[in-house]
Amino acid sequence: MSLKVHLITFNPFEENTYLISSDQDECIIIDPGCYDTAEQNELARIIISMHLKPVRLINTHCHIDHILGNAFVSKTYNLQLEIHEGELPVLNAGPAVAGMYGIPYQASPAPGHFIKEGDEIKLGDRGLKVLFTPGHSPASICFYNEADKWVIGGDVLFYESIGRTDLPGGDYDTLINSIRSQLFTLPDDTVVYPGHGPQTTIGYEKMFNPFLR
Ligand SMILES: [Zn+2]
Ligand SMILES: [Zn+2]
Repeated sequence: MSLKVHLITFNPFEENTYLISSDQDECIIIDPGCYDTAEQNELARIIISMHLKPVRLINTHCHIDHILGNAFVSKTYNLQLEIHEGELPVLNAGPAVAGMYGIPYQASPAPGHFIKEGDEIKLGDRGLKVLFTPGHSPASICFYNEADKWVIGGDVLFYESIGRTDLPGGDYDTLINSIRSQLFTLPDDTVVYPGHGPQTTIGYEKMFNPFLR
């Protein structure tokens, strides 16, 4: 009865979009990064081919690479966007940031619901616990599935690296503290599914991450 994690990498930032699905084939779409018609079609085709029914749309944080597909997913599957309230300024900066990078961006809908630290996001017979992990972004959150031993980490902790802290609302010490207090307290065999690059584990990063040794 475990939840399954499906990864699709989208857009010029090579952002990892995750579909989390239950045995009942309901799925949560986290950070849809599909930015043009071809990528939108690819996401829709995957959802159809896997017979999934999207039930929630959630962002770990609202940097442009993680929200490019919000409008498409919200419209196509009739879902309200859910984010942490502290990410609102980042979400609202989306059009300006997209213009700066020169990438097409259908403006994300405003959130319909705010997610808080400690919330449990239910899917099938599982719950994803919301961890508050600011530092890369003012109110980044992670989603921890204790039963299946994995965490959706956004841009907080990467394979042998960490999220950048030079963007508005970023702070290096805050990020390091988030990782140590929220992620490095999880069991070592917890798999981390990050917002960019390959998956890793908490134990591996404790040993080999150059920013955290
Ligand atoms: Zn980011
Ligand atoms: Zn990112």
